[in-house]
Formats: sequence, structure tokens, C-alpha cells
Amino acid sequence: MPAYRSILIAIDLTEEAGLVADRAKVLAGAEHADLHLIHVIEPLSFAYGGDIPMDFSGIQEEIHQQAREQLSRFANEYGIDEEHQHIVLGRPEVEIHALAETLDVDLIVVGSHGRYGLALLMGSTANGVLHGASCDVLAVRVGEVKK
Ligand code: AMP
Repeated sequence: MPAYRSILIAIDLTEEAGLVADRAKVLAGAEHADLHLIHVIEPLSFAYGGDIPMDFSGIQEEIHQQAREQLSRFANEYGIDEEHQHIVLGRPEVEIHALAETLDVDLIVVGSHGRYGLALLMGSTANGVLHGASCDVLAVRVGEVKK
């Protein structure tokens, strides 16, 4: 079985992100794979666009800037250079799939909260990424099991 060549780590920039990246880093080391990081920013207009008549562009730019700084600090800890750090605007699962295809990675690594009940029905990013991915997906269990 061929080793993974290129791995995309999906990072939500919470304190759990380290668990996901740690696992990917170990795997990449063993398989001599390239590592990429993606963080997706959901446009404020997705959540509030229709309800609040205001221009979000200033706040959106501020969020973007902060995310870029956070991702850059995070990436430095893992020795991932700037060209392998990706910040994208959109829906996480959609953008993660799109970048995985563009970069032609053969593994996506995400965190998974192992939800139950209603939370499970509502879905998670890990589920969304798994369904429709054209490469392997590794779901790293993070946080407590949510019932
Ligand atoms: P969730 O269960 O939906 O909170 O998300 C679990 C995992 O999905 C996280 O550990 C990340 O791997 C990924 N994820 C969630 N949100 C984002 C985001 N905005 N950008 C990139 N990855 C994300």
C-alpha cells in the first residue's frame, strides 16, 4: 500500500486543534508526507445577512486578519511554512473538499467530537467532510463525547 504523499489538516483554531495536528504530524513523519493547514472562515452574511441590514466587510476583514495571525502562530509550532497555510471564506466542508482536490492531497485530517442524539442529527464538520471526499479522511477524536 503506497504511503500518503500529502495531508490536509482542517483546523478550527480552538484549543482542540493541536490534537488534530499532532496526529497528522506523527502520520506525516512516518509516511514522509507534505502537510497543509486549512482554516475556513464562515462569512457573517451566512448567519446574519438576511436579518441585519448592515455592512459586515470591516468586521469580516478584522476576523480574517486575526485568523491569519492565529493560523500562522499555529503553523510555526508545526514547522508548516506560509505557502502551506490556507485561509478560505465559505462553508467548512465545501472549502475543505475544494482545497483537497486543488492540492491533490490523499488524506484529510479532521477532529471529531463523537456526538450522540440531537447533536449527531444536526451533523458535524467531520461528517460533512467524510461524505463526498474523494480521498481518505481521518477523524481524530477530540473533546468529550457530547450526548
Ligand atoms: P465540529 O465537530 O463541527 O465542531 O468540527 C470538528 C472538526 O472539524 C474540527 O476539529 C476541524 O478539524 C474541523 N473544522 C470545524 N470548523 C472548521 C473550520 N472553520 N475550518 C477548518 N476546519 C474546521
